[in-house]
Amino acid sequence: MPNKLLLAAADSKKLEQFATNNKMSRAIVDRYVAGKVLNDARQAAEGLASKGIDTCLNPLGESVSNINDCARATQDYIDGINMLQQHIPNASVSVKPSQLGMTVNPQLCTDNLRKILEAGKEHDVGVEVDMEHSSIHDQTVAMVHELLADFPETRMAVQSYSRAAADVLHSFQDKGLRIRLVKGAFEEDVDTAIQNPKDVTSQYNYQAAWALRNLPEPAFGTHDDRCIDFIKAQAAQFGLAKTDFEFQMLYGIRPELQEQLAQQGHRVRVYLPYGDQWYPYLMRRMAERPANLLVFLRSLITRS
Ligand SMILES: Cc1cc2nc3c(=O)[nH]c(=O)nc-3n(C[C@H](O)[C@H](O)[C@H](O)COP(=O)(O)OP(=O)(O)OC[C@H]3O[C@@H](n4cnc5c(N)ncnc54)[C@H](O)[C@@H]3O)c2cc1C
Repeated sequence: MPNKLLLAAADSKKLEQFATNNKMSRAIVDRYVAGKVLNDARQAAEGLASKGIDTCLNPLGESVSNINDCARATQDYIDGINMLQQHIPNASVSVKPSQLGMTVNPQLCTDNLRKILEAGKEHDVGVEVDMEHSSIHDQTVAMVHELLADFPETRMAVQSYSRAAADVLHSFQDKGLRIRLVKGAFEEDVDTAIQNPKDVTSQYNYQAAWALRNLPEPAFGTHDDRCIDFIKAQAAQFGLAKTDFEFQMLYGIRPELQEQLAQQGHRVRVYLPYGDQWYPYLMRRMAERPANLLVFLRSLITRS
């Protein structure tokens, strides 16, 4: 499980202000974030494409609380779709429901997501839905159930640490949802999410094997060798081709492994965040690997 203290820091507006206002080293931000503007993300996506790696674009931002900001975020996604259609083959965008207004009004969020799905369909760019904190989990699942009839290619993240994950997977089995299976990155209590990392990994592998057998083109969002090797072995045992599923990883994490998998003929997609609002995203990455925090803190001290 991610480090709880760091996950709490991810939600702290005071710390966010401090970190953002200090002249911190761009190096640590740049490792995980493709740049400030869409054109930066385009260049990073072109670099990935040259290595046979697909892109899943994410304009950073979350927990938006007013309607104008939700509309702006929706437009950012549509701009991203237009850019990808022109320049990057086989790309997708990944959407955070809290950015589209899920905490303001679930219907507003559904309407905004529908606009993004329509743009994706028109321009042949995939649309994926992130799964965020459990406080909006059920609304997110309900929204995807509702939209799937019109947009069957939609992909949704499922968090293996969630005690609701098995029910969520089964609820979509008949509809043939495309999933992105992840371990889960938010601070949750023990009633909501499995806390022990070994148990989360076992759960992840169990659900990965189930998804390979029961759902179309599952994606596996993980950097964990234990999961990747297990998925490869299971897929071979089930007689699946390497192109029947895909591995997804985060920009800047284990890039050599991303290339290696692509060279082996696997489909690999990299989640590519860009924009100014990097703080909560970056803190979740720190929480997953507290060793990164030392580099981060050192950069704050030396630059501030
Ligand atoms: C494409 C993608 C999309 C995601 N979408 C969501 C989502 O919608 N909702 C959600 O809750 N979570 C999401 N996540 C995050 C996910 O839940 C995990 O928190 C994250 O992937 C770390 O788990 P892991 O499976 O890589 O395994 P871990 O056991 O955490 O890590 C395995 C190994 O990967 C490397 N590694 C992992 N994290 C880091 C890091 N930050 N820095 C450097 N090395 C690292 C290390 O070598 C580590 O030993 C996503 C992850 C990916 C890859």
